[in-house]
Amino acid sequence: MLQLEEIEKTLKKKIKQFEKELQKGNNVDRSSASYHFFSVTIPKIQREIIEKCRKALVKIKDGTFGICEKCGEKISPDRLKELPSSELCFPSKCS
Ligand SMILES: [Zn+2]
Repeated sequence: MLQLEEIEKTLKKKIKQFEKELQKGNNVDRSSASYHFFSVTIPKIQREIIEKCRKALVKIKDGTFGICEKCGEKISPDRLKELPSSELCFPSKCS
């Protein structure tokens, strides 16, 4: 059985954590070879994660949480516990 309250908490915590990191930014030198990675690539990934977590929170509210976006089947509780923002049932099947 899925503990939706727990998952909701985890998602909210994750959003906060990533928002904080986004605000903090980075102190990488502009001339550094990894500048693009730290100032563009990582924030992009962080924003995507925040977006996914927000989407998952909406799904919890409207009762569609845990249902695969592709095939409509239930995503396994173990997978959701590990990655609450999962949108697809199983990587090898739907993603
Ligand atoms: Zn599926």
